[in-house]
Amino acid sequence: MTLIDVAFSKKQVSCPATSSPSPRKPAWVVDDWLRHKLPIQIVDPEPVSREDLARVHDRDYVDGVLDCRIPNGFRGRDADVAESLSWTVGSFLTAARLALDNAKVACSPSSGFHHAGICSGHGYCTFNGLLVAAKRLKDDGLVKRVGIIDCDQHFGDGTAEIIDEYRLDWITHHSHEYFLEYPRFGAGPRFLEALPGVVRGMAACDLLMYQAGGDQHQNDPLGGFLTTAEMAERDHIVFSEAKALNLPIVWNLAGGYQSPHERIIEIHRNTMLACVDVYCG
Ligand SMILES: [Zn+2]
Repeated sequence: MTLIDVAFSKKQVSCPATSSPSPRKPAWVVDDWLRHKLPIQIVDPEPVSREDLARVHDRDYVDGVLDCRIPNGFRGRDADVAESLSWTVGSFLTAARLALDNAKVACSPSSGFHHAGICSGHGYCTFNGLLVAAKRLKDDGLVKRVGIIDCDQHFGDGTAEIIDEYRLDWITHHSHEYFLEYPRFGAGPRFLEALPGVVRGMAACDLLMYQAGGDQHQNDPLGGFLTTAEMAERDHIVFSEAKALNLPIVWNLAGGYQSPHERIIEIHRNTMLACVDVYCG
């Protein structure tokens, strides 16, 4: 392929009062990728409906957040955030459809999914875009099995809760509190050695969702144990193993909290560079 599809709209950007750069990251990374002349193609996402969000969330929670009556994952009730949420999840669903269509890869420059459970959000996550997308694609008959490799540094507790509660046994979920298994420094080689097997474990899936979390970097204030080179190798392993399996992959940004924010933009650029290297090489 010559261009990597990126499902992006400025409507998925918001500016809540938070220490997390995540709501602003979509525009930052897309600007950065275009400025560096990376071979990407911007595709307009479609926002998801309230009915789509309610496929895995409590309908009162969905309405309450979108009507600014219930706190969002940033613990605020800003209309700005509420308006962005269906576009953020829509970006991920659109990218997932693009990956299925081209049978290779697509990117959603989104974050803020994996801590969101059925009736609540926290840790900068409001709605679980991973599972909203998975359930919509399953209901539409476009997938039978979905794999999730969550390389955000923190455990996807919201994802696990929804899978467990709704008994979504057609989803294979790989997520950890990585800091419990891997000490902050020096554990990179052991992690990278196991990673190809994790991807191959998803071989029976029709679609792989990859959270290429930036907070696995060793300089991240919220954890992390990988060097910059090891982060790049992580991404390269996931993309090249998925490609070897002919397994379509949709990926997003997830966490990343280094300051100044140029450091986290560089990490996400490296993920796109690995994607380009594997799929456009
Ligand atoms: Zn995280």
